[in-house]
Amino acid sequence: MPFRRLWATTTVVLCALAGLLLGLVPSAGAAASGTAVAAAPDFKAPYPCGQRWTYSHHSAEVRRALDFVRADGGTTDGTPVLASAAGTAHRHHQANGAGNYVSIEHGGGWRTYYFHLSAFGAPDGAQVAQGQQIGSTGSTGNSSGPHIHYEQLYNGVGQDIRINGSALAYPGGYHQYFLTSDNGCGGSGTPFMTWGSGTRVRADARLSAPVVTTLAGPTSVRVLCQKQGDTVNAEGYTNNWWSKLRDQNGFISNIYIDHPAAQLPGVPLC
Ligand SMILES: [Zn+2]
Repeated sequence: MPFRRLWATTTVVLCALAGLLLGLVPSAGAAASGTAVAAAPDFKAPYPCGQRWTYSHHSAEVRRALDFVRADGGTTDGTPVLASAAGTAHRHHQANGAGNYVSIEHGGGWRTYYFHLSAFGAPDGAQVAQGQQIGSTGSTGNSSGPHIHYEQLYNGVGQDIRINGSALAYPGGYHQYFLTSDNGCGGSGTPFMTWGSGTRVRADARLSAPVVTTLAGPTSVRVLCQKQGDTVNAEGYTNNWWSKLRDQNGFISNIYIDHPAAQLPGVPLC
């Protein structure tokens, strides 16, 4: 939709302005190649379990931020913003920049940012758990459309964002890459065994989605949720159901789950 495209472009440009106003833009090259970085918390997506959002990074964006908008038919505005890891949450306000925003100190030099909130969801200084609501998605400050501006910083320097241990891409526009949240799912998934060898785990339930890892052989996995995607024909089976694997942070065709049903019993929809 032309309107949406225009809106998205404006959003990322304004986000870059927000960062400049904060005065926190690191010097060029400060992404610290060669610098030892302490192990990061196991960060999860900053929005609720099962929701699918798309993200982008404008070339003029502040630090290594990604801007997220919903891509699952739900409304971005007002959606809960969740702590991507446990820590101490602080409220901030910057009228002409980040708007209402929360920073969470995770310890070990790690911090996350959540900008442009419509409302706060945790008291200033609160200890928050991973998956706890810290605010609501909005467009406060220098932003022209609801989105979550999200950052991971180490010792004040923006890092390439990793979710469940996997580095996200930095596309220049929305609807190229997607991330389904497993934050706050409350469960640890349902255990299954896989079968086959060289099974590709993909970023989404599509054969064109990037491969995030490969299962060398039969593997014990935890399935968080399942959804219908591309139809796969393999090993004499045809199935369009895919399982989201907790530890691999990606999807495999249900053909490779060692269970006779095409749609797994007792596993929620993504
Ligand atoms: Zn932004």
